[in-house]
Amino acid sequence: KLSKRLETVAKFVPQDAIVADIGSDHAYLPCYLVHNNIAKSAIAGEVVKGPYDSACHEVQKEQLTNKITVRLADGLAAIQPGDEVTAITIAGMGGPLITSILEKHPLALEGVERLILQPNIHAKVIREWALQNSWKIIDEVILLEDEKIYEILVLERGEMNLSELEKLLGPVLKQQHSDVFHSKWTREVEQWGHVREALQKAEQTPEILAKSDELANLIEAVGEV
Ligand code: SAM
Repeated sequence: KLSKRLETVAKFVPQDAIVADIGSDHAYLPCYLVHNNIAKSAIAGEVVKGPYDSACHEVQKEQLTNKITVRLADGLAAIQPGDEVTAITIAGMGGPLITSILEKHPLALEGVERLILQPNIHAKVIREWALQNSWKIIDEVILLEDEKIYEILVLERGEMNLSELEKLLGPVLKQQHSDVFHSKWTREVEQWGHVREALQKAEQTPEILAKSDELANLIEAVGEV
């Protein structure tokens, strides 16, 4: 059984997609997608030998070697010309690692219609990358599992406008304002408050003052939401 987190990622994979799951680890997500007839076929990409071996093992055990290709490769280098990948999933990493993977092999994105990205932290950098690279957010989910909060961003090609606050909070998540969203940002605002108190006790250099002001602005803007 898939985790609630990966099951939610799977929900956004279009019917009959050809999927590349990058950083696939045990290849649980591609196996689920093919078993459930959501994906026609899939590529499971892994850059580390141990998880790559786990992925190969899982795909063999599930008897899906005819539909899932496991490749040992860095990021989107797992996608080869002719694969005709239509959707990419990247889950369980930080936002900066996800964006660096997307930036490193831009040609691999040709023909890809949808990206389903699940950053564990710093979703903001993904929203900034999307803005700069003509991808738009078509949906977002925030969810709680095992006391951890995860965000999922669904992107398709197109333009969008995002305010600074929407880049941080997520345009859809801000609008929905779920309980999980509320508790995440309440906690963040509290932490910024503690940092700001500590800064106010430190020597008031221009850098410290600037940082303290920046935090005060964030606390006010996010606190209001
Ligand atoms: N995607 C799975 C999930 O969400 O449960 C596994 C997440 S696991 C925490 C992250 C995986 O990404 C690791 O197996 C790691 O080896 C792999 N990874 C990290 N950087 C990568 C890269 N540049 N290319 C391919 N895989 C990468």
